[in-house]
Amino acid sequence: MVVTLNKKQNIEKETENILQAIYGSIDCVELPIDLNYVLKFTGLELIRFTPNDPNLEHKELFQDVLGAYSRTGKAIFIRDGQIPSREAFTIAHEIGHHILHEDIHFRTDNFNYIDEEIEKEQEANYFAASLLMPDCLVKKYKVDYGGDLEKISLIFGVSKQAMQIRLSNLD
Ligand SMILES: [Zn+2]
Repeated sequence: MVVTLNKKQNIEKETENILQAIYGSIDCVELPIDLNYVLKFTGLELIRFTPNDPNLEHKELFQDVLGAYSRTGKAIFIRDGQIPSREAFTIAHEIGHHILHEDIHFRTDNFNYIDEEIEKEQEANYFAASLLMPDCLVKKYKVDYGGDLEKISLIFGVSKQAMQIRLSNLD
């Protein structure tokens, strides 16, 4: 993980501010996080695509893509047909580019990265994890459910793998 501790703390603060602005307080957050609220809050439109849609513009850019972000278009593109937990993580990752990376104007993501991109991608992943799995709530449910990964990940609407990574980052 190349994301520094300082960056992680800033990202936690960013996601906490967003959730507080939406839900009033972190105690009032309903799980799983409804990304429609977050999209509305950030002013981003969600556009679903299938790569072989004949009406899809710039089709060549979207072939292996799960999600994409356009700053000028104020939009997030999401490939149709992903399982819900994967889709939520992808959307949250793209929102992360919007919030964290002012220099990114357009990005397509297939989650196989080249080295120069990896820092920003890991930051966007950390943002997604922090947004979908707020630290204080993860810690609370971890205690309540005795660390039952299956149950906790279902509550947060994320994959077991994503929850496992989040738990190890919060230890
Ligand atoms: Zn990305």
